[in-house]
Amino acid sequence: MALASCHQNPFFSEWDTPYGIPPYNKIKDSDYLPAIKEGIRQQKAEIDAITANAEAPTFDNTIAPLELSGNLLSKVSGVLFNVVETDRTDALDAIVEEALPLLSDHEADLSFNKALYERVAAVYHADQNALTREQQMVLKEHFEGFEREGIGLPEEKQRRLREINSSLSTLTQKIGNNILAESNAFKEKFGFSVSAYPDRMTTTADRDLRKQYLDAYTMRGHNGNENDNRELLVEVLKLRLEKARILGYNNFAEYQLADKMAGTPATVDAFLSGIIKASVAKAKEEVIDMQAEMDKDIAAGILPKGSKIEAWDWWYYAERVRKAKFDLDDEAVKPYFQKDSVRKGIFLAAQKLYGISVEPLEGVPAYNEECVQTWKISDADGSLIGIFTTDYLPRDSKRGGAWMNNVREQYVDAAGNDVRPIIVNVGNLAENMNVDQVQTVFHEFGHALHGLLTKCHYASVSGTNVKRDFVEMFSQFNENWAFQPELLAQYANNAEGETIPAALVEKINNSLKFNQGFMTTELCAASILDMKWHELENFDNVDIDAFEAAVAKEIGLIPEIGFRYRTTYFNHIFSSGYSAGYYGYLWSEVLDKDAFGIFEASPEGPFDLALASKFRKTFLERGGSEEPMVLYKEFAGREPDNKAFLRARGLIK
Ligand SMILES: [Zn+2]
Repeated sequence: MALASCHQNPFFSEWDTPYGIPPYNKIKDSDYLPAIKEGIRQQKAEIDAITANAEAPTFDNTIAPLELSGNLLSKVSGVLFNVVETDRTDALDAIVEEALPLLSDHEADLSFNKALYERVAAVYHADQNALTREQQMVLKEHFEGFEREGIGLPEEKQRRLREINSSLSTLTQKIGNNILAESNAFKEKFGFSVSAYPDRMTTTADRDLRKQYLDAYTMRGHNGNENDNRELLVEVLKLRLEKARILGYNNFAEYQLADKMAGTPATVDAFLSGIIKASVAKAKEEVIDMQAEMDKDIAAGILPKGSKIEAWDWWYYAERVRKAKFDLDDEAVKPYFQKDSVRKGIFLAAQKLYGISVEPLEGVPAYNEECVQTWKISDADGSLIGIFTTDYLPRDSKRGGAWMNNVREQYVDAAGNDVRPIIVNVGNLAENMNVDQVQTVFHEFGHALHGLLTKCHYASVSGTNVKRDFVEMFSQFNENWAFQPELLAQYANNAEGETIPAALVEKINNSLKFNQGFMTTELCAASILDMKWHELENFDNVDIDAFEAAVAKEIGLIPEIGFRYRTTYFNHIFSSGYSAGYYGYLWSEVLDKDAFGIFEASPEGPFDLALASKFRKTFLERGGSEEPMVLYKEFAGREPDNKAFLRARGLIK
């Protein structure tokens, strides 16, 4: 007789680990799929129980159990989608490949569950006065989520929507693949990848070569070959317009913005036009500085007389100006920003601002024992805030970039226990960091604080579960502390224990404003192009080149700066979900700088404890449990203003 395996799937039992940290050491690859399948089955049963309830729909018998459903699925997804990004293996890839269609089918089943929708709608349309504000927001999100998929529409319109969605997913995938193919062709031709483009444009002295790079880079998807995106993307834009119309909106931008903080295209347009003017004006000043550098090359006989700065010169001469003006050398900075010191810096800033305490946890389960460290974050009164794990250094199995992950969301369970979050910060950073990397560490910890300090009741609105154009406010806000002289004095030490010199601190802070006319113009012009495409309501005879040229003219874009993304390779808006949403980067930054401006203006200085406490209570504790603009006005006493942002980027005095 064969012996039964003694391995038990850890997802099927309660975790008796410290703080309920996933028992990573006991989880085997073979545990994931059975747990996902069982998790889907359990959530289906939970939803069936809600819809089978004979009692009239109420928040307590419909929304509350809906919020608590899918617990097993959250448990396994939290672990699986973390490890596949940090410690990828072929086996994990295969598991995810099998799991994704199961999960997306399950999600579609939920969002087209008519019986569930009818109960949610009944609660939504009933008197909401007895509900808390957070409950009203949770209810609204569920109801609007259903409506946005078109569940309330007649059968035949729903059928057309499904057709559109399916065509859109095929077309956008094709566009993405074409961009990839064109980027690979670029790499083949020049021997470096498109991600290295800014770097090559900065360091390549050969002007003709720079022009070749720029031409090839900006013509991707526009070469009349089998990877040409022009027809495909017009098709996508038309289908998006049709979808928006079916759902009752005038254009796709309206549909996309309806569930964002900004709310309407008009708000976004006014917002962007308030930035583009100042940034183009600054960019024109930057051209003058660069021309002076170019004139030196003309005088030295390197370039012919009469040479003028062109789009392919920008990166190269900007770097020359940077060296001449700021003399900031990465190599001089790095010794003071060792990985452990920088982490000490993020903890110190949060301790000073929010009174929390941080203690390392030894011997707790970790998804990668060698590379990650885990910390217990507690409040001033000793109560547990959450568990925080750092995983900063690169390894082959980790995907690129830096991010924050929620292994467990904060919520209050059925028994009334406050389940505290487990948050991970992951990066591909160096043991000794440059200015950018230090900002990245503070940025990701800003997301982590948003996830950790939350005090909500329902998972769907806790922590970072806020609107997409609001979420980056908190990560960017936290970056403001990275180079505060008072904080640097406490964390930025080199291996000999020496503190970073004041002169270097000043150089760092000055350099943050460098080249911001160009950077802001690029970001803003791309955001405007995105909005214009999605506000368009007639695509007869549309010509992409002419459309781009008209937009450039309207916003006063100078020839020395092209579009950061021309339409044919604008991946964000065609294949990664940022359509009519690219403005979100600037929007969040305006909020963050405006809020930080209030700290800077305080007589107590930026470490004003009363203000920090207000920031924590108004924003960080409340997640998505209130409309962002309501929260913002509660904090600032007024609507946000772009002046602090323009000043921080050096665009106005
Ligand atoms: Zn972020």
